[in-house]
Amino acid sequence: MIVQKFGGTSVEDGAAIERLAGIVQRAVGEGPVVVVSAMGKTTDRLVAALARATAGDEGGALEQLAAVSRDTLAAVDEIFGAAAPAVAAELAPLFAGLGRMAAAVAVLSSVPADARDHFLAQGELVSSLVVARALAARGVPAVRVDARDVLVTDAHFGRAQPDFRATEAAARERLAGPVSRRQVPVIGGFVGATAGGQTTVLGRGGSDYSAAIFGACLGASRVEIWTDVDGMMTADPRIVPEARVLDRLSAEEASELAYFGARVLHPLTLAPAIEKGIPVRVLNARRPERPGTEILSGAPGGEDVRSIACKRGIVTVEVSTSRMLMAPGFLRALFDVFARFDTAVDMISTSEVSVSVTLDDSSRVAEIRRELEQMARVDVVPGRAIVCLVGENLKFTSGIAARIFRAVEDVNVLMISQGASRRNVSFVVAEEDVERAVRHLHREFFGEAAAPGAVSTARAGRA
Ligand code: ADP
Ligand code: ASP
Ligand code: MG
Repeated sequence: MIVQKFGGTSVEDGAAIERLAGIVQRAVGEGPVVVVSAMGKTTDRLVAALARATAGDEGGALEQLAAVSRDTLAAVDEIFGAAAPAVAAELAPLFAGLGRMAAAVAVLSSVPADARDHFLAQGELVSSLVVARALAARGVPAVRVDARDVLVTDAHFGRAQPDFRATEAAARERLAGPVSRRQVPVIGGFVGATAGGQTTVLGRGGSDYSAAIFGACLGASRVEIWTDVDGMMTADPRIVPEARVLDRLSAEEASELAYFGARVLHPLTLAPAIEKGIPVRVLNARRPERPGTEILSGAPGGEDVRSIACKRGIVTVEVSTSRMLMAPGFLRALFDVFARFDTAVDMISTSEVSVSVTLDDSSRVAEIRRELEQMARVDVVPGRAIVCLVGENLKFTSGIAARIFRAVEDVNVLMISQGASRRNVSFVVAEEDVERAVRHLHREFFGEAAAPGAVSTARAGRA
């Protein structure tokens, strides 16, 4: 069995779904389970619709929903031709439900967390239906599976976590069952449900995580992440156009990259795969003949720096006190505050009199600040970014820090940390400096405009 996950751009229109069908068809002998994201911009539009509706703007919300159904039905027309009305009729109740929910939210000007998840989940419920029908129309024996019958999660709406044991039992019945009958299950990523049946979602970009969860639960021999780039690269190609594809990465390296902003993989994707030793491959759905990147637990790292990631929208919280920092229990009390407000801390740096931390979810920072002010002076600074260099061999390389900070000497570095794994070096800069920092570092460690796919080329400044 293998899991094949197709991201938003890989199901965005009729042509993309045709390409997906070709890829799945070629894998039929391996027993594929197909996991799909919502089509194209759907989830962004659903989020925007809720924002309009909670602002009391029902018309604005309905406009967003109209764009979702327009694009979806255009794809359906393209794929199914004369059979399109039948598929459209299956989708109609889903769209109607979205309209009713948006109207209700606009009346209340607020949306409860569970209703929000139910609303956002519709994107994947729609795409899984369209893709299953498209495969069937091509003669692939596809069956659409409702993710809420398989992925069992806690009730942490917006960022639900899987219950692996319950999910494994359901996956065996609802995914492995059809595969053993030579069918191809098609299931939405991102979506799950509590044991009581309430719809949940895993958080933005969570379809990758769904694919890995199903892969682990099924003991799949491989998880394939089909996306819009040739694999994991030396940097985000949107920032560094000359970034190169990496043939192989260790799962530990790839996890750090994902955690520090390489959007190509959801940060939690690799944990279940590492635990079960399942290889993950990142592939380009537009160029399926390319080898992509293979991610294997413990695979040997190559270069010192393998890749550079960055994450915007970071807030730093600086806590200073002359009295208590070294007192036993102070740090515990400090981190307790973040935990109480359900906010994860990414980077930490301490001095005699201050502690700085970074947050990427600042939704509760006002409450956190109020609590922290009971114990110390607090500065909250938004508009920052983390830059992170990752490589399995960084820990063996002396002088790497000097090279890194020389390369960004014209950028104001605000906070530095070397991960305890010594597999990464990260630092904080102002958001407006982040792209420049990443480009400088890429030039330092990977040279100028290398040919795509080239192995090791010019590495400036190296004896
Ligand atoms: P999908 O919709 O398939 O899940 P995403 O947009 O979530 O796709 O992720 C793919 C994008 O990730 C790429 O288009 C690329 O801009 C971005 N990205 C960021 N860092 C990297 C990296 N190191 N390697 C490859 N892509 C990256
Ligand atoms: N559709 C969801 C999102 O856009 C999940 C995903 O695509 O991974 O965040
Ligand atoms: Mg994604």
